Amino acid sequence: MNRRRFLERLLSPLVMAWSTFHFGLRPARAAVPHNGSQPSYGMGIDVAKCIGCARCMEACKIENDVPREPYFFRTWVERYVLRKDGEVVVDTIGTGGGQHDDATERDVLRSFFVPKLCNQCAHPPCVQVCPVGATFKTPDGVVLVDAERCIGCGYCIQACPYGARYLHPETKTADKCTFCYHRISRGLLPACVEVCPTQARVFGDLRSPASPLTRLTRMNKIHVLKPHLNTEPKVLYSNLDGEVR
Ligand code: SF4
Ligand code: SF4
Repeated sequence: MNRRRFLERLLSPLVMAWSTFHFGLRPARAAVPHNGSQPSYGMGIDVAKCIGCARCMEACKIENDVPREPYFFRTWVERYVLRKDGEVVVDTIGTGGGQHDDATERDVLRSFFVPKLCNQCAHPPCVQVCPVGATFKTPDGVVLVDAERCIGCGYCIQACPYGARYLHPETKTADKCTFCYHRISRGLLPACVEVCPTQARVFGDLRSPASPLTRLTRMNKIHVLKPHLNTEPKVLYSNLDGEVR
């Protein structure tokens, strides 16, 4: 076991306790119902429910030891401002980045928040381009990176059409959202889902009729990002505005 894995195993209970204290993360065992066969995990995001509080971003950084510097994210939340003059202004909350918007309330048609993350594509371009097989798909449909095999070439970062990957500044390996695979494989929810105060994020097995994700898909019109690319994302959006890219 390398030093990083050893520290991860050692610190995981401490991080969980810290998260519980700060974010109200509840260790909800068996929170991810599935139907007994191989699950197919996905996440649902109801854009109408997101209030842009960024608790999901912070919980993810703590849970997954994501670097603190701006622009390193496994999940992030974009703010869209649609102006009456037709201009669309987008920035990522908490970074001060994105396009600058000096619109007053009278200029704004509507605004909303869109949480984003790796889409856990069924046909992932990142897996196709990895020259050493370090990026792979699990049987339950989650795309992961084996940090010990990754050579940091960055091909997957270039290939991902959703900007979901970054090169970790310390390990020099590719990193991205794993749906908190270490949590979901123990029946827990991803940290971002656990802390969301409005249930804008839901998680579950797409094959289970009891899953909150299946309920979301039954009761809402669902969209995915960049459907024309045929990547078949497993992050499913309801109430998604047509301006979102
Ligand atoms: Fe939106 Fe929920 Fe994230 Fe808050 S925690 S920004 S409401 S998705
Ligand atoms: Fe790979 Fe990007 Fe799809 Fe995630 S969103 S599976 S990183 S191509």
